[in-house]
Amino acid sequence: ASGAAHAVGVGTGTDALALSLTAAGIGAGDEVITSPLSAAYSALAIMMAGARPVFADIDPDRLTMSPELVDRAVTPRTRAILPVHLYGQPADMPALSDIAARRGLILIEDCCQAHLATAAGRPVGTWGLAGAFSFYPTKNLGALGDAGAVITNDEALAAKLRRLRNGGQTSRYHHAEFGVNSRLDEMQAAILRARLPRLAGWTSARRALAARYRARLGDTPVRVPPEFDAGHVYHLFPVLSPQRDALQARLRDAGIETLIHYPLAIPAQRAMAAVDPAPCPVATRVASEVLSLPLHPGLTPGEIDDVAAAFAG
Ligand SMILES: *Cc1c(COP(=O)(O)O)cnc(C)c1O
Repeated sequence: ASGAAHAVGVGTGTDALALSLTAAGIGAGDEVITSPLSAAYSALAIMMAGARPVFADIDPDRLTMSPELVDRAVTPRTRAILPVHLYGQPADMPALSDIAARRGLILIEDCCQAHLATAAGRPVGTWGLAGAFSFYPTKNLGALGDAGAVITNDEALAAKLRRLRNGGQTSRYHHAEFGVNSRLDEMQAAILRARLPRLAGWTSARRALAARYRARLGDTPVRVPPEFDAGHVYHLFPVLSPQRDALQARLRDAGIETLIHYPLAIPAQRAMAAVDPAPCPVATRVASEVLSLPLHPGLTPGEIDDVAAAFAG
């Protein structure tokens, strides 16, 4: 669907990111600029590759990395930019790819929440060297267990990834280089193959339900982040409120389960202390205000209306 020449299956989305970085020659002593608001795995993958995650704060409306702050975060050690298409909304890829080109940096996209998304009309994962996908059960395309994949148009990178995921073997039991064990399990692959034809329909359903939330939430006190790109695939439907915890409690009382993605900005995670992260005030504030409303393709329009009504009540 992405039109990329190669897709290499791996064990998880985290491995898809880490192995892409390793295959691109990124490791110890290198810096990779990424988003402070994401699943922590985005940054942990950079650390798995041996490099240092450097956080560029997010745009307060789009909730993905601010291109201006990415440009300012570049140092002589910077090797790559790793944007995250958070909640299914593509990052500002035209601006980020301009910076990557101008600064001579590798671009690797975290597409784990953005299956079938397009950024300015172009499939996510095809803007730079590679795109990493997760098929964890809760993603827009999910297996029954862990699975991931890297897409790329770079033949050599694809070949390197196929060796890396397979213990560095060049032929059976001959390990010519470093590698890990990150195979895409065959059972998961079979399930993904069966589900893939339904992804486009699920994605349209997500978009329609999101549009309904937008229409119904207009008069409520929550802030609904705007849709910046028609290629948004609504992995989640986040709203923002300074009274987030009280709102969550009210919805819970009405029988509506919500989740928080994510309660801590990545730089605030204790696991990041070792990389001396810069504070990211916008991501920190968003983490204290964000609430994910129920959204999956099986919901009905009436259920969306019920959630919206619970805000008013
Ligand atoms: C899920 C996710 C990951 C990690 O994927 P796994 O398959 O769980 O390893 C990385 N980044 C983002 C943005 C994700 O949502």
